[in-house]
Amino acid sequence: MAVKGKRRPHVLAVPFPAQGHVRPLMKLCRRIASRGIKVTFVNTEYIHGKVFAAMSEEDKKKNSMQLISIPDGLPPEDDRSPGIELMESVIRTMPGNLTNLIEKINCENSGEKITCVIADITIGWILDVTQKLGAESVVFHPAAAAGMAMILQIPKLIRAGNLDTYGSVTKNELIDLSDNIPPWRRNELTWSIPGDLKTQKIAFECFAAAGKTANHAKWMLCNTFNELESSAGNLIPNFLPIGPLVSTNKQESSAIDGSFWLEDTTCFSWLEEQPIGSVIYVSFGSIAVFCQDQLNELALALELSGRPFLWVVRSNLANGSSVKYPNGFRERVAKRGKIVEWAPQEKVLAHSSIACFLSHCGWNSTVEGLSMGVPFLCWPYFSDQFHNQNYICDVWKIGLRLNPDENGLRSRHEIMTKIEMLLSEYRIKVSAIKLKEMVLKNVSGLGSSSQNFDRFIDHLKN
Ligand code: UDP
Repeated sequence: MAVKGKRRPHVLAVPFPAQGHVRPLMKLCRRIASRGIKVTFVNTEYIHGKVFAAMSEEDKKKNSMQLISIPDGLPPEDDRSPGIELMESVIRTMPGNLTNLIEKINCENSGEKITCVIADITIGWILDVTQKLGAESVVFHPAAAAGMAMILQIPKLIRAGNLDTYGSVTKNELIDLSDNIPPWRRNELTWSIPGDLKTQKIAFECFAAAGKTANHAKWMLCNTFNELESSAGNLIPNFLPIGPLVSTNKQESSAIDGSFWLEDTTCFSWLEEQPIGSVIYVSFGSIAVFCQDQLNELALALELSGRPFLWVVRSNLANGSSVKYPNGFRERVAKRGKIVEWAPQEKVLAHSSIACFLSHCGWNSTVEGLSMGVPFLCWPYFSDQFHNQNYICDVWKIGLRLNPDENGLRSRHEIMTKIEMLLSEYRIKVSAIKLKEMVLKNVSGLGSSSQNFDRFIDHLKN
């Protein structure tokens, strides 16, 4: 039941506690707040601390939302990496914590009670709880509409015997939802974590529960746009694509949108020194990790390519520990290779020196790259990233796959060959530029995403 009347709208937003989820929802909420709507953004205490630490004093002053936190139920010493402990703890503690929070807000501000809760689909089931407190339910999907459509099909796929209780594909067949959406292979589903079936089962159950709740949500907001995924959109009730959520304000720091780490802004002066369209940007998002042998192959490929590169090497990229580079590598590439722990990615991708994006194909990275017209070298790690790769290479034709060898490694030869192929393939660059233009059209005043967002704001206000 939605309680609206003449009350001032007050949105409460709840992301799943991971970088690829917090960031797009914060971007969306900042836009909502810029339309004069009160927004309270709820992170877990741990994430709240990280987001605050990465913001400058100026970012904090400019912030237009109320940023608050609730405990995640884990002990202080836990590393809180996305996995089974975090998921189980969120499931156990979030319903009670959110109920208490909403009741407290509603009691202390009777004129500004929570009128709408926007929840990330991963914890979409929480809306069953918040709806009872009189707030309207809105689901936010930070990834492709295709993934959202797939989540809604879970009951049907279980009934048909296509999925087992772990969310694994039972028959070795492709799952096909529509002609214009690439079919999913066995380990390409949003909840797929082939090496960790226990966590996969919990993720699958969360998505299955969220799918049921989502069917009753007022809107299903998605970080995509109509022209990009119209077939998937047709399979989703109350679908409202409002993406891609990319930062357009060049003057503004991207840390204001919920970066978990300090961004190394020395990238910019370095990029300025590189020739136009020359730099390979390498980044695997916030979760992917690799064995040391694989990282050696990548380092040597970047060296042998002879091209400038900007490589994001998180402190835990080597399976949780710090990366060891091949002997003498840093010295040999010093003049044309820049390595940073965390980059201002969107602004980097928008820089004229960038030639291509070697990416894990997380959805945020995917829409950021395509919004800037940058061709991709695809190296998916898990979850929906394989399906995003299929979109990039087979449907939009703006990238190439980096294929693993018989040992599961992407060899230096494979990486070098594909870099050269990608950069000499004129048609890929043309497709990438066309897609960038399509994005611009969709997010401009009369574009469909922009109009959908206006519609959502009108609904919140009226
Ligand atoms: N990102 C960033 N700096 C980096 C690497 C990534 O700001 O050095 C941001 C990137 O712009 C994106 C998010 O982190 O918004 C990663 O989300 P994505 O869905 O691509 O991948 P995930 O981290 O969820 O695997």
